[in-house]
Amino acid sequence: MYLTVRNATKTYGPFTALDSVSIEIEQGEFVCLLGPSGCGKTTLLRLIAGLSRLDGGDILLEGAALSDLPARKRGFGIVFQSYSLFPNMTVAENIGYGLKIRGTSRSEMARRVAELLELVKLPDVADKYPGQLSGGQQQRIALARAIAVDPRLLLLDEPLSALDAKVRAELRGEILHVQRTLGIPTLMVTHDQEEALALADKIICMNHGVVVQAGTPEDLYQRPKTRFVAEFMGISNLLSTDAVRRAFPALLATRPEGPDDRVVACLRPEQIGLIPAPDGSATATVRGISFLGNLRRLEVDSAVGPLIVETHGAAPCREGDRVTLSIAPEACTWVADDMARQMAESPA
Ligand code: ADP
Ligand code: MG
Repeated sequence: MYLTVRNATKTYGPFTALDSVSIEIEQGEFVCLLGPSGCGKTTLLRLIAGLSRLDGGDILLEGAALSDLPARKRGFGIVFQSYSLFPNMTVAENIGYGLKIRGTSRSEMARRVAELLELVKLPDVADKYPGQLSGGQQQRIALARAIAVDPRLLLLDEPLSALDAKVRAELRGEILHVQRTLGIPTLMVTHDQEEALALADKIICMNHGVVVQAGTPEDLYQRPKTRFVAEFMGISNLLSTDAVRRAFPALLATRPEGPDDRVVACLRPEQIGLIPAPDGSATATVRGISFLGNLRRLEVDSAVGPLIVETHGAAPCREGDRVTLSIAPEACTWVADDMARQMAESPA
C-alpha cells in the first residue's frame, strides 16, 4: 500500500473530529474523500499533509511513519478551496516557487513553468498576476504550482467548490487529465457525490468523523451498505421491510436475516419499471413528470407512499395514469438502517 492511515484520531477539546479513521491509497490511485460538511474531511487531509498533529493512530507512506516529518519535508502538493496563490507574484513566480526554494536554475525553472502551463492549458498567462485571472484559471495555476515539484502525493481540498457549475465540470476533467498523465496518487476532498463518482478510482465516504464505506464508485452507488450512504449517493427510494412485504413481496428473497427495523430496501429510480395498466391491475398513480433533458423523473404514488422513478427516452405514461410497477429482485439492495439507530441513540 502506498499511503496508509491507521486508526487516526483527532479531538478538539471534548469534540472528536476523527474517530479511529483508517484509509488506504494505492500508487497512482485517485481517491475521493466524500461526506457532508463538518464530517472531518479537511481534518483528515490536514493530518496527512502534516499541518496538524494526530492524537492517535499512524500515517505511513510506503511503510514509513510520517508523524515526525514536518509538512514541508513530506513533498506533498496541496490545493485548497480558496485561491491560495501569492497575489504579489506573477503566475510564473507562483508556479516556480517550490522549484526556486529547491535551488532549481533559472532556465530549468522557465522550462518547467512553460511545460506546466501547457499541461493546465493556460500557456499565455505566465506574466499575469493572480488578480487578473478568473477563479477557474487561478485554480489551474494552483494545481500547476502543486505538481511543479513532482509531489509524492497530491492533496486537493474541495478545489472546485468555489467555481460555477460550467467551470467546475471543465476543471474536473482537467484535474483527471493531469492526474492520469502524471500518475500522482491523489486524495481529493469533496462534498459533491457527482464529482466523486466522476473522478474517483475509490471513494471513501465519511460521516461524523468515521469512515462509513469505502469502495469503487459502482460499489457505493449500487451496493451501499447503509442508509446514510444510499441517501448520500444520489436519489434512492427507501422502503421498510413491512412496506416491501405488502407491496413487493418478491424482493424479500434477497433480504438478510435479522429484525425488521435494522434494514431498509434501497431501490434506485432507474431500476423501477412502469407499465401502463388500464385494466384495473394498477398499483400506482403517476403524480408528476419532470423533463430533465436526458431523462424523465416521475413521482409515483404507490401503496407504500411516493416513489421516484427515472426513465430514458419517451415517458411510458402521462400524469394521472394508473400503472403497475415492475422491479427485478436483483435491483433491490438491502442496507443497514444506520439513521434509525442514530436517532434511537441520540439523547433528544
Ligand atoms: P469538513 O472538512 O468535512 O467539512 P472539518 O474537518 O473541517 O469538516 O471539521 C470537522 C469538525 O471538526 C467540524 O465539526 C468542525 O467544526 C470541527 N473543527 C475543525 N477544526 C477545528 C478546530 N481547529 N477547533 C475546533 N473544532 C474544529
Ligand atoms: Mg472541509
